[in-house]
Amino acid sequence: MLNSYISACEITNALNVYLWNVALMRKTIFKKLEAQGLIANYNRLRKNLPPKLPERVFIWDKTFREGVQTPCVFLTYVEKVKLAKMLDEMGVSILTVGFPALSEEEKNSVKRISNEGFQQASIAAAARAIKSDVDACLDCGVREITIATPFNGLNLQYRLKMTKEQALKNAVDCIEYAKKHGVIVDFILEDASRTPLDDILQIFEATAKAGADKLVLADTVGFLRPLSMRYLVSHVRDGLQQRLRGDVKLSVHCHNDFGLATANTLAAVEEGVAYVHTCIVGFGERAGVAPFEEVVAALELLYNVDTGVDMKKLFRLAQQAEKSFALPIQFHKPIVGENAFSYEVDEHVEGMLAHPLIYEPFPPEMIEREPQFYISRSGGRRLVEKRLEAAGIKATSVQVEEIVRRIRLMQENLDKGGAQMTFYQIKKLMRDLRKGLTEEEFWRIVEQVTRQKPKLPQPLLEAQEP
Ligand SMILES: [Zn+2]
Repeated sequence: MLNSYISACEITNALNVYLWNVALMRKTIFKKLEAQGLIANYNRLRKNLPPKLPERVFIWDKTFREGVQTPCVFLTYVEKVKLAKMLDEMGVSILTVGFPALSEEEKNSVKRISNEGFQQASIAAAARAIKSDVDACLDCGVREITIATPFNGLNLQYRLKMTKEQALKNAVDCIEYAKKHGVIVDFILEDASRTPLDDILQIFEATAKAGADKLVLADTVGFLRPLSMRYLVSHVRDGLQQRLRGDVKLSVHCHNDFGLATANTLAAVEEGVAYVHTCIVGFGERAGVAPFEEVVAALELLYNVDTGVDMKKLFRLAQQAEKSFALPIQFHKPIVGENAFSYEVDEHVEGMLAHPLIYEPFPPEMIEREPQFYISRSGGRRLVEKRLEAAGIKATSVQVEEIVRRIRLMQENLDKGGAQMTFYQIKKLMRDLRKGLTEEEFWRIVEQVTRQKPKLPQPLLEAQEP
């Protein structure tokens, strides 16, 4: 039922009325409209141009470190390499490909990937501020190692169970140790967004002096507001300049718990940060990490900042990631979601026919997509006319009206209960698929191992139902 609903109202690529030269329009699309006096562009106002904006931003992908921490996600080696190669070909600067200390299997995977031969991306592996973690990275032959530690009271007292002095010493020792092996070393301050500024400056100064090449501020629980991010970055930047008497390469790592990961990442760039962490489609634990495609598109089109990334492949990459993660991309997901360039309101379709940019944020052809049009409750007449025209059918306006009425009637008479049931079945299947086993299979394993029957299996099973 659900399928027939979609096929009945979908008109794919009905209006192939314009062709764009992608290379030409990149970065000039809004300028042209502005020059013609057709739109205002507040993004280009001198007053709104951040003075510290870097000319080039380097994308540092974390999909294979944090994206894969999406619960129940597992990528095969082949899938990882395929995505990594795509990211490399697209122009990503750094790829953190794994956490070798996690397991022997992960270590082997990182080792193999680092030998795959990448065109431009620097291949990095992650470590905690523990010497054996660094050793595990070194064994993999990666060019770059990231060493991470938190430094605020909450983490030191309850997680690391060590003093500030100990944590600082561990970070410094690990960086010096890794540097001796001739690799690039980056220091990631976890939960930096909830760490006192003086402490951030203290550990950043020490780690920079120990040889850290890049210093990363992590907003581990997506806690900052964009203005707070600008405050933090500017104070860290200026404080370090004073202490180290020179520029350091700063980077940010933003989680999306309040939906602000992209905004916070861009806020950091506004203060001069030139290295930004992203994950494809924003995958990751909880609400994920700043989405690669959002950050890239915003930097390229709203800031006119070069990321070195070939935007054309953004959608293809997201689709490949969706397949590998077996995790559907939200329909309304900016840039790469199914609905990101979809229309059904008559007036909007009219507008699109007159000039696509009336309702398009940017031409979808830039990322090898096309607008999608739907006949539905809010419209459809214009689309029907266009389709008939293209098919050489001459219809009176009464006939067009009747066609639209019949299509809508089909939709309105749709068995809603049946459609919802199908939808819940799909969601349940998705849950089981992601877990890799059903509830029944889980309890069967428990019973086989413990020889005990669970006392409350029934409510647990029921809890899984929608
Ligand atoms: Zn993170």
